[in-house]
Amino acid sequence: MPMSNSRRQFLCGTAALTVSALSPALADAQKTSRLILLGTAGGPRPRKTRSAPAQVIVVNGTAYVVDCGDGVARQLVLAGIPLASVRHVFLTHQHSDHNADYGNLLLLAWTAGLRTRVDAWGPPPLEQMTRHFMEMNSYDIATRIKDEGRIPLQPLVHVHELRKGGVVLQDENVRVRATLVDHPPVVPAFGYRFDAEDRSIVISGDTRPSDNLIELAQGADILVHDALYAPAIDRLVAGVPNAPDLKRSILSHHTTAEDAGRVAHAAGVKTLVLSHLIPPEDPEVTDQMWIDAASANFHGRVVVGKDLLEL
Ligand SMILES: [Zn+2]
Repeated sequence: MPMSNSRRQFLCGTAALTVSALSPALADAQKTSRLILLGTAGGPRPRKTRSAPAQVIVVNGTAYVVDCGDGVARQLVLAGIPLASVRHVFLTHQHSDHNADYGNLLLLAWTAGLRTRVDAWGPPPLEQMTRHFMEMNSYDIATRIKDEGRIPLQPLVHVHELRKGGVVLQDENVRVRATLVDHPPVVPAFGYRFDAEDRSIVISGDTRPSDNLIELAQGADILVHDALYAPAIDRLVAGVPNAPDLKRSILSHHTTAEDAGRVAHAAGVKTLVLSHLIPPEDPEVTDQMWIDAASANFHGRVVVGKDLLEL
């Protein structure tokens, strides 16, 4: 039986009302992934204007932290991400600019109210590091359990050592895949890809131009890639006693902004985010210089990473 116009309008209106009343921003918020750059400086030396490498992806209120450079817990707080919402922690590789605050993130999240399971993923010796960290802090942990009525920390933390690429995990929010990247002499070193419902995000970790990473990042919406600005490296290492070795090391196992553009182009990504910047805070290297270098080989959007930038 054909519906009258007014009846149809009423039903449409009701449906629209129901959808907007029940889902609204909540459903969108649940599906929408957030990527926040927590630290964008390359290298372990603490800097004034950028924190050490770390980023967080948040989906449906669940936080996935990738790398734990110095200050990662505080950067999460500054980004407005509850520490107790940390569910998974991924390390790309065992360099101190990426792992210095791995244990501290767990400990400080626990003091901030974490009472739920955390899975930690990364290269060996992640198990040993975790165990030693818990031992090193056993006095404080035991004291707070007794004095503040906290639940034990160690049983919350589940460590998974990764030795090869492949699917790392799949849950209700994301599928995470890892690939081996090329960051000698640190082996293994990983890049990670997060496929959420709304988009895909790839974090390169530290690497020189990597065919594995190009494969992992195929068609991704966002590629966060480590980047160096080669003409400025001499200034960066000037004055340090190990300058020749440091320069050779930096140039041999990282990726220039130009090459990051090549990788982004080869992978067909939409947006390239330059991060883990080397040098991290040279006033003579402007954002435009980074962008121009990467754009020489890539015609998508290029973003120069900044701490607490959300994408
Ligand atoms: Zn590294």
